[in-house]
Amino acid sequence: MRILLLGAPGAGKGTVAELLVGRFGIRQISTGDMLRSAVTAGAGLGVSAEGYMKRGELVPDALILGIMEKRLQEEDCKKGFILDGFPRTIGQAESLKKMLDKLGMKINAIVNLEVPEDVILRRLTSRRTCSNPKCQAIFNIFTKPSRKEGICDKCGSPTVQRDDETEEAIKQRLKTYEEKTAPLIEYYKHDPAFVTAPSFKPEPAVDAILARVGR
Ligand code: ADP
Repeated sequence: MRILLLGAPGAGKGTVAELLVGRFGIRQISTGDMLRSAVTAGAGLGVSAEGYMKRGELVPDALILGIMEKRLQEEDCKKGFILDGFPRTIGQAESLKKMLDKLGMKINAIVNLEVPEDVILRRLTSRRTCSNPKCQAIFNIFTKPSRKEGICDKCGSPTVQRDDETEEAIKQRLKTYEEKTAPLIEYYKHDPAFVTAPSFKPEPAVDAILARVGR
């Protein structure tokens, strides 16, 4: 099973991906999580990516394509995967197509998670993320608080507001989404695997995806 999750920041890609992981036993591949781990590790890729991420801009395609090409060839991807946050530009979508053709892989569902903008803004400003780069569990101070305030339920590390969750960076991320990523909807619209799923709540979005892939 191979699924692409598209959607604005805060549309619920991570939450929906987590539910799909439980359902299909396949890997969630989040380019955002991979980049944040690289930033924390202070490695070459992280150093290059950090500034773009803090400003709410996309990191250059060349950086992302390098890591994704390697990631998709790893053993655990043979069973399938959920791509969360990739592709995010038409250029990335075209490169992904080439990578998948080369690997002989087909996508089962291309999912456009749709959420009204006011909901997105509320979600992003109230989101808290586990600071442990290996965990990165997501909470929400209103709708999904951790059992102990400021502490991750899963691993006990402090939960924090991400650097790119200031009001200014959020506005920039939404602008970047409109300019660079929203055109992917037009790009994929006629693909038989394309489905739009309202993502006000994650469960109905997952149901729409399961219906598309015939489960
Ligand atoms: P969100 O979807 O909530 O914006 P992510 O965790 O997916 O959050 O991404 C955080 C940041 O990481 C993005 O704002 C961007 O700077 C960078 N990033 C993630 N995925 C990509 C990608 N495919 N291409 C370019 N930049 C990316």
